[in-house]
Amino acid sequence: MSDRPSFYVSTPIYYSNGVPHIGHAYATIIAETIARYKRFCGYDVKFSTGVDENSQKVVEKAEEAKMSPESYADMMAAKHKAVWDGLGITYTDFVRTRDPRHFAVVQEMLQRSYDSGDIYLGTYEGKYCVGCEEFKCDADLNEAGRCPLHPDREISVLSEQNYFFRLSKYQDRLLALYEARPDFVVPSHRFREVIEFVRGGLDDFSISRAGSTFGIPLPFDPEHVTYVWYDALFNYYTACTDGQERFFPADLHIVGKEILRFHAIYWPAMLWSVGLDLPANILATWFITIEGQKISKSLGNVIDPVEFSREYPRELMDLYLLHSFPVGSDGDFSIGQATHSYNAHLANNIGNLLNRFLVLTLKIGGGVSGTASDAVFLADRANMEREYVAALGRCDLRAALEAVFQFADTLNKYLDTKRPWELVSDESRHPEVADVLLHLGEGLYAMACMLMPFFPAKMEELLARIGRGDDVHRIIAGSLPLDAGIPFASRFEVAEKGVPLFARIDVSK
Ligand SMILES: [Zn+2]
Repeated sequence: MSDRPSFYVSTPIYYSNGVPHIGHAYATIIAETIARYKRFCGYDVKFSTGVDENSQKVVEKAEEAKMSPESYADMMAAKHKAVWDGLGITYTDFVRTRDPRHFAVVQEMLQRSYDSGDIYLGTYEGKYCVGCEEFKCDADLNEAGRCPLHPDREISVLSEQNYFFRLSKYQDRLLALYEARPDFVVPSHRFREVIEFVRGGLDDFSISRAGSTFGIPLPFDPEHVTYVWYDALFNYYTACTDGQERFFPADLHIVGKEILRFHAIYWPAMLWSVGLDLPANILATWFITIEGQKISKSLGNVIDPVEFSREYPRELMDLYLLHSFPVGSDGDFSIGQATHSYNAHLANNIGNLLNRFLVLTLKIGGGVSGTASDAVFLADRANMEREYVAALGRCDLRAALEAVFQFADTLNKYLDTKRPWELVSDESRHPEVADVLLHLGEGLYAMACMLMPFFPAKMEELLARIGRGDDVHRIIAGSLPLDAGIPFASRFEVAEKGVPLFARIDVSK
C-alpha cells in the first residue's frame, strides 16, 4: 500500500459492439495525459477504462456473427484492449460489465436503492431508440421523428412495467451541489447547460426491462434485468473493489457529450441513494468530426488510431487532439492542419531550439554549467510553470501546452537577440556563449519536464540529448514533481548533434 496521495481518473466504458476510433481515442488520450501528469506529480494513480457489454446490441451483433453473446463479448473486449495497448495507454483497470464481480456490485447497489425507497415499479410508455438504448422525448427527436444519432433506425414505442429510479426527489439536492461546487463539471459552459436542464425539472427514469436475459437481474425481481445506468455507471465502483477501495470516489470522470447528463445528474443522485461519496470532477469532451464530417462507417472516414499513429508520428495525433481545440468544444480533425501544427510547434519551435543548443554547445566543448541569472529569463520560466500548473489544475491541456509553446517562442527570440553563433569563432568570447547556452539549456530542461506527460518518448530523448537522461527516472517515479517547481539542472552535456528530434513532415505529399 502506497503512502502517496491517490488519484483516480476514468474514461467512459465504451460500447463493446464496435471498435474504438479516433473519437474514443480522444477521451482516452486526455485521460492518459492527465494520468501521466498526476503520476509525475507524485500521485498513486488509478486509471480505469473498459467496455459496456450488457446490451441488446451485443446480442444482435453476436447473432450476425453466429457467435454466442459471451464469446462475441470476449472477442470485442480483446479488440478494445488491443487498441489501447497499441497506443501505449497506461490504464490500470479494464472493466468488463460481464465480469461476475461487476454483477455482484450492481446487484448490491440496486438493492440498496430499493431499500432506501428510490426504486419503484411503474408503467412506462415511451419512444425508445434501440441505438441509444434509451427512451426519448419528442424534443430529442429530429424532424422525421427519429433519433438524430441513429437516423436510419425506426423509433420504437414501448409500453411496459418498469422499475424506476426516483430522480425527481433529488432535484433540489443536485442544484445545491452545483451551487456549492462550481467546478464539479468542466468546462463551465457545459456545466451551465446541465444546471439549466435540472432547473427545468427532472423525471424519474426507468432502470429495468422485463424479459431480457443478457443483463444483470434485479435482486428484488429477477424477471427484470437492469439496463444502462446502474450497470454502466457503477463500473467506476467495481474498478475499486478487490483492495482498491481507497481510490473511490473518482477524482475525475472523463466523459463524452452524449453521456455528460447521466454523469452530472443521474450519477450523483444514484450515489446519494446508495450512500457513497461523489466524484470530485467531471470533464466533458465533445464530438470530433473528420475533415468536417461526422465519424461514421458509411462515410468511410473512421480513423483507426493505432494505424494512424504508425503512419504519422505519434506526437502529431496527440498534439492535434490536445492542442487544436478546447476541451468541451466540437473539434474537427484535419490531416492538413494536424501536420501544420506538428511542423510549427514541435519540428520548428522546440525541435529548432534543441538543434541550436546541440550544435552550439558542441562548438564550445560539449558542456555548459553554472547558475542562470538573467532576470527576464527567470521570470518567463517561472511564469510558464505557473500557467502550466494552473491550466492542468482545471484540466485545460490546451492551455498547458500553449504556456510551454509560448516559452519556446520566447527562447527562440532570446537566441535571435543574443546571436551566440556570431561569437563561437572567437574563443575569448566562449564564456558569453556558454552563459546564453546555459539559459537555453535550463529553458529546454523545464519544457521537456513539462511536456513529459504529453510526449513522453520524445521528451525522454530530449533530456538524454542534453545530458539529463538520469532525470527521466526521477520524473517517472514522481520524485521530481511537476507541480512543485522544476529545479534548475545547472549542468548540461552534449555528445552529438544527432538527427532532428521531430522530423518535419513534407506537406506537399
Ligand atoms: Zn439513438
